[in-house]
Amino acid sequence: MKPTYDGHVHTAFCPHGSTDRLVDYVERALKLGYTGISFTEHAPLPEGFVDPAPSQDSAMKREFLPLYLEEVAKVKTYYQSALQISIGLEVDYIDGWESETTAFLNEVGPKLDDSILSVHFLALHQAYYCLDYSAEEFQHIVEQFGSLAFVYDAYFATVSRSITSNLGPYKPKRYGHISLIHKFQKKFPSPRSYEKEFLTLLQLVKTRGEELDYNGAGSTKPYCQETYPPQWVAKEAAKQKIPLIYGSDAHSFKGLHQGSDQLSPCISLSIPQTLQRQ
Ligand SMILES: [Zn+2]
Ligand SMILES: [Zn+2]
Repeated sequence: MKPTYDGHVHTAFCPHGSTDRLVDYVERALKLGYTGISFTEHAPLPEGFVDPAPSQDSAMKREFLPLYLEEVAKVKTYYQSALQISIGLEVDYIDGWESETTAFLNEVGPKLDDSILSVHFLALHQAYYCLDYSAEEFQHIVEQFGSLAFVYDAYFATVSRSITSNLGPYKPKRYGHISLIHKFQKKFPSPRSYEKEFLTLLQLVKTRGEELDYNGAGSTKPYCQETYPPQWVAKEAAKQKIPLIYGSDAHSFKGLHQGSDQLSPCISLSIPQTLQRQ
């Protein structure tokens, strides 16, 4: 099934993305025949948390948040009859920073139509590492953890906690790219299938009635070459009736629709539940 809603779109407010304008994304979404998109910029990291990415460009700067919300609201209104535009954020789940994240969500949540909770950072002995920065950095993380299997263990444990943690009433209902650990898998082959771990994640999401980001970006990454999550996990999720929301994870307007040809054709895609209730 071809996507008609994109629930994961970045913008020029992302310091590691392009400078494309919001209207460029909107116009391209219209050309692609989409019915709606969620702008989900990387939310500012908690105050006091040091961005572990080597270039410290993981998220939007805090001072830009009001402008971001305002700009998305503007295009939302302008295009309201043509495209359903949602004001959203991709929020980081950071081990040990749950209370700061909850406070942030309580503050910004009322202004959002949609949001995603994602794990990009892993904690080890009070230090944090950015999982998806580069293959070199991933190698460094493997060395710090002692083995690739330990990194995988930490990843699944962290994603599980992201689902089970209580981040208050505005906690996102959708989990971003739950197999991001595969980003460099052609260079760092998965130590085993992690079937049990993926099934546990699905069960946790299912019990809560929440949903998953079915993310096309991985299939365009040279060392990944598959969607997040991989096809077998997405199929299992669909079988369990867990809603899958396509996400291009585009960081430029040309990135919209990316990886959509790699989505399993037998899976029907959903729009975010928060929007269905509106
Ligand atoms: Zn990004
Ligand atoms: Zn992400």
